[in-house]
Amino acid sequence: MGRGEIAVIGLGRSGRAVAELIARNGGRAYVSDAAAGDGVRAAAGELAGKGIAVDVGHHDLERIARAVAIVASPGVPPTAPPLLVAAQVGIPILSEVEAALAFLPSTTRYIAVTGTNGKTTVTALIHHLLTALGARAVAAGNIGTPVSELAMLGTPPEWIALEMSSFQLHDTPSIAPVVGVLTNLAPDHLDRYASLDEYYGDKMRLFANAAARAHWVTNADDPEVQRLVRGILGTHHRFTVEASTDRSVTGEHPSCEAVADLARGEVTMFGATFMRRADIPLLGDHNVANVLAAVLAVAMSDPSHRTPEARARMAAAVATFGGMPHRLQVVGEVDGVQWINDSKATNVSSTRVAVAGMTRPAIVLLGGRHKGEPYSALIPLLQRHARLVIAYGEAADRIEADLNGHVPLERLGSSFEEVISRARAVAQPGDAVLLSPACSSFDMFSNYEARGATFQRLAVDA
Ligand code: ADP
Repeated sequence: MGRGEIAVIGLGRSGRAVAELIARNGGRAYVSDAAAGDGVRAAAGELAGKGIAVDVGHHDLERIARAVAIVASPGVPPTAPPLLVAAQVGIPILSEVEAALAFLPSTTRYIAVTGTNGKTTVTALIHHLLTALGARAVAAGNIGTPVSELAMLGTPPEWIALEMSSFQLHDTPSIAPVVGVLTNLAPDHLDRYASLDEYYGDKMRLFANAAARAHWVTNADDPEVQRLVRGILGTHHRFTVEASTDRSVTGEHPSCEAVADLARGEVTMFGATFMRRADIPLLGDHNVANVLAAVLAVAMSDPSHRTPEARARMAAAVATFGGMPHRLQVVGEVDGVQWINDSKATNVSSTRVAVAGMTRPAIVLLGGRHKGEPYSALIPLLQRHARLVIAYGEAADRIEADLNGHVPLERLGSSFEEVISRARAVAQPGDAVLLSPACSSFDMFSNYEARGATFQRLAVDA
């Protein structure tokens, strides 16, 4: 460790882990958190017991101004006082991942995943596939487990499936995955980015250390992705989900190594049959794209992962993948009505794929905290699939303004109980009720998980 103190902002799981990692490696960390609840105090006590300097309830900004680097938890907004101080004084800001990568043994390899939507699903799939191939693998990063915790293990994993948000990529200049995956790009986080270019620019930091030996897996169906990755050093591998028969008739996808031909119901990899579409147990064609991305990334990560035996094992593993909570998760069927929790859909593009994946008439629950995107892009799909849209929460007015006159819509307030009971009242046997809000949850809930859990409790468990 270099000389000087590293300021860690936030006593969450990643802040605690990185502080301990720094201390164990002979460095000095100062951790502070503006909150002072019981959980924060308990965490602070634990770190103090290990000889790490901690403040709860406030940040010592003068001390932070003398730090050699700052590690900020992904949830800390750039306008938080410690980050403003860092910007003023010119202290480098590092993500937790950046700090931890320096301490990972070279025997640990990682596949990094970014994109607007599908990151967590693809990361979890990669972890599932690597495990099925007999590798010691862990999913980490934005998905929950801090990389610092892995760096402290007596036996670090052979593989990490590493989910990276744009915010984390912004502050992870050393990222150099064995394989990097870019799922897709669509407007998001316009509440935190000044422009779309700036947001896409952070996503593109995945390629910051691109070298000839690198492998990149990208979405051939996303023109913006393809435009941006053109010319990046390394070998490019592409996947495509073909909905029409046009190209599948000729069977030619010259530049794509993983292809889902929906007309034939077949998935191929490297020109050979991989599995049937019907054996992918996930709702929605976007999840077929997620499977292709994951399978191709694992296949390219090591030659032993693309032998015929390895491919057969991966296909079998996809067929047993249980899906992810809060992501198009069918939480139950009551009186002939299917209740689907897609609380993780916090932007318009993820709600679009959810609505597109509906096979029943749907009551669609849209609302929460507005993030800056217009909802009008949903109109054609809602016209096709929605019996009714219920707009609720802080964003209800905007949703109504964007959709009114185009789709049947009712506007409610900020009682989630009322939203659910109204949905229950209008749903008919054979319908689905889809919570895919296209907004963040923070107006009414602490996070999207709490929103999804409340949906499930009110709809099914009650
Ligand atoms: P992320 O981690 O990028 O937020 P998730 O895997 O958690 O992505 O999925 C979040 C939501 O995004 C899902 O509920 C779904 O509606 C949508 N989604 C998932 N995969 C895709 C995809 N490949 N393309 C578009 N939308 C997707």
